[in-house]
Amino acid sequence: MILFLKPYFEKKPWAGKELNKIYDCPESTGEAWIISGYRGKSSVIANGKFKGQTLRHLWVKHPELFGNYPDKEFPLLLKLISSSSNLSVQVHPNDDYALKMCNSLGKFECWYILPETTAKTVTLGIDLKNSREMLEMIQRGLVEKFLIEKPINPGNLVIVEPGTVHAIHGDTFILEVQESSDLTYRIFDYYESVNRKLNLVDALNVINYNTQKNQIHDFKDENTFKNSHFNVYKLFISEKTEYENKGFELFYVIDGCGSINNTKIKKGDSFILTADSEKIIFDGNLEVIAVIPKPKDKERLKMRKIALITGITNQDGYYLTKLLLEKDYEVHGIIKSMSKLSSDYLVEFLDNPNFFGHIGDLTDASNINRIIETVKPDEIYHIASQSHVDVSFEMPEYTTEVNSLGTLRLLDSIKNSDFKTKMFNLCSPYVFSGEMYPQDETTPFEPRSPYAVTKVYSYYMARCYRENNNMFVTNGICYNHESPMRECVFVAKKITEFAKMVKKGRRKILELGNLDAKREWGHAKDYAYAMWLCLQQDKPNDYVISTGKAYTVREFIEKTYSKIGIDIEWNGSGLDEVGINSKTKEILVRINPKFIRPNDVKTLVGDSKKFINDTNFKFEYDIDKLIDSLLEG
Ligand code: GDP
Repeated sequence: MILFLKPYFEKKPWAGKELNKIYDCPESTGEAWIISGYRGKSSVIANGKFKGQTLRHLWVKHPELFGNYPDKEFPLLLKLISSSSNLSVQVHPNDDYALKMCNSLGKFECWYILPETTAKTVTLGIDLKNSREMLEMIQRGLVEKFLIEKPINPGNLVIVEPGTVHAIHGDTFILEVQESSDLTYRIFDYYESVNRKLNLVDALNVINYNTQKNQIHDFKDENTFKNSHFNVYKLFISEKTEYENKGFELFYVIDGCGSINNTKIKKGDSFILTADSEKIIFDGNLEVIAVIPKPKDKERLKMRKIALITGITNQDGYYLTKLLLEKDYEVHGIIKSMSKLSSDYLVEFLDNPNFFGHIGDLTDASNINRIIETVKPDEIYHIASQSHVDVSFEMPEYTTEVNSLGTLRLLDSIKNSDFKTKMFNLCSPYVFSGEMYPQDETTPFEPRSPYAVTKVYSYYMARCYRENNNMFVTNGICYNHESPMRECVFVAKKITEFAKMVKKGRRKILELGNLDAKREWGHAKDYAYAMWLCLQQDKPNDYVISTGKAYTVREFIEKTYSKIGIDIEWNGSGLDEVGINSKTKEILVRINPKFIRPNDVKTLVGDSKKFINDTNFKFEYDIDKLIDSLLEG
């Protein structure tokens, strides 16, 4: 497919006249971003079924058009720049500096000097040995004294390495090909009245005082210029020519007129050949620049990933945050209020420069949209929910607001965003009735509580958005998991906390509900790792994530008490059943009907063969290790 593009135009105080001659744009236009996938400054598709959509939107929503190119951002930016007077003097950082300071890529660029240029030189490099000399000269107002001027001619390609001080002079018209980064540090401005920011400190950190590297390529012997970021080809077409398409390629017509696959093209046109383009025939008299981007190598792709966690104040949020910070992510969490942040376990992360809290709530769509827009997460871990089955009987509407509509709000916000985001949706085994077990991805859903119904909605809505909008959303049906961070209303923590007090002689009788419910009890730390693994797969999926080993509440009590040196014996049945100390015959456990749930699910035990096959995941904690950690915590 050939995607023709309409440029994004920018006004500049130094604007020349050339752009206004080619395009229908204001006279003050200094830059035409002819091929740009930049946020807010994207070119727009001018033809075919994607007409009117931004290139950025296509990049995010239709990766197949670009051969599923691995980079997160559209890799290159092609601009036309027309100047009537000097541009400011600037320098760009390299990838290392940009990654460390701004979590962005650096900027390598080159300028093709177009025929309309009458300027005879560009600024390229400086005649100084070190930063001390540079500071001195700047303080004395002698900037122009140390700039190196290089002669240029139309048809030259000026190579601007990161670290090279550079500036374009008046009466220049160039095609700029650059890595798609907006990082640049201005060291001197000719336009004081515009009051643009200088970034001297950063500039001094990145300037390369060795000017050897600076070069000018003239395309005389070879029609190609290659570097590690992209290849530039100059094509001369004078007759019908079949073009060997190399995949996803960017084009600008420098001069002449003709056609591509019978569609007329002329000077000023820019277009992209998508990865699926078939036979390409050029005809006419044309001078064209073709640019082929090169995917960043692994090292350069190591930009810090950004994660957003809903429900960061619960135990899963704690373990996920810990894991992701260890993996050098920038971690953002949604919290209901500032007090939540300091009162919870998250206080451990507050001083970490890669940790950020945002006030928000899943019941507020505009708030969710704003957070996603600001954070631009690579990965969302959606673990927030009203997760108490009992509470859902009392507050079914609120549970639906949070668990069902909350998921929908997130999905819709991701759908409408213009960046790539993967989402993990935490699902509950309560979608099953517990009559059939072990449960896997094919077991029919039979929700038995308002909570379970809300989770069924969340699961199917995530699938629906995945299938209809080509989104990376993975459902993980995670079986019960616990940790010292778990609230005491959950039975495992309730039992272990009580046992601790029994050991200290402070309490005696533990009151519980249904002792025959059979559950798995994994550790939240293992589950946090499993959730992360879900988003590291090539494709989104639906997974059951479970230890595969279930125990009754009764067995959990026996195991816990035996660890504090007490053997429990059971006497009686139904509401009259009691657990007694086998030695002293004291009653330690009894039933309180207020803890018995209506319609309680009998057996929840999963079969996570599919997940384990896909990810090679291994659980670190078994039930014994889990109980030990709860008793210690
Ligand atoms: P859930 O499975 O996510 O609801 O986790 P819980 O720890 O709350 O409940 C696990 C099982 O323990 C359920 O089948 C409950 O009915 C049963 N259970 C028995 N007694 C109690 C109790 O006193 N509190 C809670 N929360 N659950 C209990």
